[in-house]
Amino acid sequence: MSDGFVARESEKPFFIIFTDLDGTLLDRNTYGWEEAEPALTLCKKLNVPIILASSKTRAEIEILSRKLSIPAPFISENGGGIFFPVNFFKETPPGASFDNGMWKWSLGMPYSHLIEVLREIKNELGLQIRGFSEMSTYEISRLTGLDLESSRLASMREFDEPFIIPDENPTVPQLLISAAVKKGVTVIAGGRFYHLQGKNNKGIAMAKVISWYRETHENVRSIALGDSPNDFYMLEQADLPVLVRSSQKFSELKKKIPDLRVTAQESPGGWNSAIMDILG
Ligand SMILES: [Mg+2]
Repeated sequence: MSDGFVARESEKPFFIIFTDLDGTLLDRNTYGWEEAEPALTLCKKLNVPIILASSKTRAEIEILSRKLSIPAPFISENGGGIFFPVNFFKETPPGASFDNGMWKWSLGMPYSHLIEVLREIKNELGLQIRGFSEMSTYEISRLTGLDLESSRLASMREFDEPFIIPDENPTVPQLLISAAVKKGVTVIAGGRFYHLQGKNNKGIAMAKVISWYRETHENVRSIALGDSPNDFYMLEQADLPVLVRSSQKFSELKKKIPDLRVTAQESPGGWNSAIMDILG
């Protein structure tokens, strides 16, 4: 063993947590996070940044990050946008635009384009696709279980159109994926909705955030937590990947990521125990 190896081993890791929200940090039904409080408090004590990475909009995540007292950059709409609190870093992230009080990296496709493409796919496949842009705040509330104000924030989209298919049959996912590929867009399955978006994903956004942190920090080690396929891009590249238990088994993912940790509990208790194990 060389001296250099020993020196590197002794460097303290700088952990960054990337976490999905619904079904991962937040309870999938109540959206609460009480059981994760001990781990959240530990992260604050150790100055471990928690990067919220969700299919939620900027408007929704901004409010949640205030409630959670997490003053860190966050990833919105499945990696479509990355938002940095002003003055959080000494320097402005390169290429960022200033948008309503935050620095923003836009990785996704403009929303107006996505709505148009989803309309084309709907007509071509003859499916009863219903996108967020066609729904009232009341309908979004009914489908998500969010209150009306939260549903209004959820409808303020920039990079990702969630949609449902009430008459879905087993052939639908493959048809959707093929139609999307032809149009240069992506369809992925989240916990409650399909999502139509550009080539962005949470993993690409995560890599960008890590590279920005590496400008100023040594020995960055990433922890990623998620519960759905749109989180797997993060889990695949994390140093410490954590699958938060849900009703789905995802045995392929476990084969693909041999060191994947799977929590014993669902969210938010599973989130808490995973972070306490790693950092505690
Ligand atoms: Mg989730």
